Amino acid sequence: MKYDVVIIGAGHNGLIASCYLAKAGLKVAVLESTDSVGGASVSQRVFPDFDARLSRYSYLVSLMPDQIFKDLELSFTTLGRTISSYTPELVDGKDVGLLVHRQPGAETISSFNALAGESAFPAWQSFYDSVQKIATAVAPTMLQQLPTRSELKALVNDPIWDEIVELPMGQSLEKRFANDLIRGVVLTDGLIGTFSDAHDIAANRCFIYHLIGNGTGEWRVPRGGMGGLVSELLEKATGLGVEILTNHEVTGVTQLSSGWQTSAAGTTLESRFVLAACAPQVLAKIMGTTPPASLDGSQVKINMLLKKLPRLKSGIDPAIAFAGTFHFDERYSDLQLAFKQSAAGVVPDRIPAEMYCHTLTDNTILSDELNAQGYHTLTLFGIHTPAALFDKNEAAVKQEIVQKLFAQLNRYLIDPIEECFAVAKDGSLCFEIKSPLELEKEIGLPRGNIFHKDLSMPFREDDQAPSWGVETEFPGLFIAGAGAIRGGGVSGIPGHNAARAVLDALG
Ligand SMILES: Cc1cc2nc3c(=O)[nH]c(=O)nc-3n(C[C@H](O)[C@H](O)[C@H](O)COP(=O)(O)OP(=O)(O)OC[C@H]3O[C@@H](n4cnc5c(N)ncnc54)[C@H](O)[C@@H]3O)c2cc1C
Repeated sequence: MKYDVVIIGAGHNGLIASCYLAKAGLKVAVLESTDSVGGASVSQRVFPDFDARLSRYSYLVSLMPDQIFKDLELSFTTLGRTISSYTPELVDGKDVGLLVHRQPGAETISSFNALAGESAFPAWQSFYDSVQKIATAVAPTMLQQLPTRSELKALVNDPIWDEIVELPMGQSLEKRFANDLIRGVVLTDGLIGTFSDAHDIAANRCFIYHLIGNGTGEWRVPRGGMGGLVSELLEKATGLGVEILTNHEVTGVTQLSSGWQTSAAGTTLESRFVLAACAPQVLAKIMGTTPPASLDGSQVKINMLLKKLPRLKSGIDPAIAFAGTFHFDERYSDLQLAFKQSAAGVVPDRIPAEMYCHTLTDNTILSDELNAQGYHTLTLFGIHTPAALFDKNEAAVKQEIVQKLFAQLNRYLIDPIEECFAVAKDGSLCFEIKSPLELEKEIGLPRGNIFHKDLSMPFREDDQAPSWGVETEFPGLFIAGAGAIRGGGVSGIPGHNAARAVLDALG
C-alpha cells in the first residue's frame, strides 16, 4: 500500500485527523472535492470591494478541546468576551433589554430584576449551576472512548441528568423559568441548526453540545476568523508530510482483501484505512449503501459588512449589545410558533434569530483602512427555516426571509440596518444570505445540516461494545467528520477520535 490512511474531505476534522496520524509516522493523503481546504470553517473576502475576511459559515469556537491545541502545537488562538448576550424587548411600550455578562454581577442581576422580577436571576443561576455539572463530567470524556450511559450519569450525579438527558428539555424550562423571553434565550442553544420542538429530545442533544465545550461552554472568537484555524492546520499537516489533493472529489471507495481503494478525479489511491471526513450521507452515496436518517438543516446565515453599528432604541451602547450574542424574537413562544409554522411548510411570521459582531472582539479580519473608518462585521443566524421551505422557489424564499428578518431587527433599532451596510461600488448593500440548500451546493452539507447529521448523546448504551463513536460496519473505514458520535461543530473531536481508532487498530 502506498498510503496508510486516505482521508476523504479537508474540513478541519480531516486536517486534524491527518496531523495526528502523520505525527504518529503514518503516510497520509487527504482528498478534497473543492479547490480549497476548510469546509465549513473558512474565512473569505465575501464582498470583493472591501478588504474584510469574514468567517463565511462557522464563526465561534467552544467545542475544540484545549488538548488538541496542545497536542498539535497550534498557535491559533481564540478570544473570550465579557458579554454573554443581550436581548432587546418591548415591555409596556418601553424598549428595554436583558443583558447577561459572562461572569454575572450586579449589572446582570439588575437587568434580570427589571425585566422579570427578583426570582428570575436566581432561577437562571441555579439552572446553569446544575448544567455545569454535565459540562464538568462530559468534557473530559470527549477525547476518550465513549463512556456508557450509566457511567456518565454516575459522573454527573445530579437530578439535572434527567432534566437534560432523559426528558424533553421543554418540561424543565417551563418549570424553571416563568418569563417567556428568558425561557427562549435558554432554549435557543438547543435549536442551533436543529429543527426541533422544545419537547423533542433532539433539542436536548443540541443544548448539551452548546454547553459543554472545555467544561465551560464558553463560545470564543477565533482570532483572524475561522480561516485562521484552517491555515494553521494546513501548515501543520503539510509540514508533517501529509499530501493534500484539492479538486479531487471522491467518487469510489472499494474494499480490497487487505485495505481500501479510493478513486477521485482519475486518481486511485490504495491504503490500509480510509477516514470519511465528509458527511456520512456522502459516504453512503459513494459506496452505494443506505444513508443514515437525519433532519434537514434549518437555518439561514446572513453575513454583513457595516459602515457603523446601529444604535438601539433601548439606549444600550451598540458596542455592548453586539459584543456577545444578540438575540431577537427568540422568546419561547416565538420559537414554538416558528417551529410549528415551518413544519407546516410556511415561512414563520417571526423568524427567531441571533447575531454577533466579530470585529468588536477581533478587528484583525479588517484592513487598517476599514478599521480606521469604523467598519464592523455582523453575523446573523436565523433559525427554524428548514431546507424544505426553499425547495420550490429558493430565491423568492430567501428574499422573503431577508425582508422579514431586517424588519424584525429594525423594530429594536434607531438606525435601520439598511442604512448601516457598507455599499459596494455597484451600489449593492454588503450582505449575503446562505440557505440550507446553498450549504449543500457549496460545501456538501447534506440538506444544509450544519452538523452533517443529527447530533447524538455523548455516550453509548450500557450493552454496546466499547467504541470511539467513529466506527462503521466496515473494519478499517471510520467516520472522521462532524457526523461521528460527538461530532458536530468546530471541535476536531471526530478527527482526533478517528485517528485514535486507526492507531488502536494498528496496536
Ligand atoms: C452557517 C454555519 C454556521 C456554523 N457555525 C458554527 C459555529 O459558530 N461554531 C461551531 O462550532 N460550529 C458551527 N457550525 C458547524 C461546523 O462548521 C461544522 O459542524 C464543522 O465545520 C464540520 O467540520 P468537518 O471538518 O467535520 O466537515 P466540513 O467542514 O463539512 O468539511 C467536509 C469536507 O469534505 C469535503 N467533501 C465532501 N464530499 C467530498 C467528496 N466526495 N470527496 C472529497 N471531499 C469531499 C467538503 O468539500 C469539505 O471540505 C456552523 C456551520 C455552518 C454551515
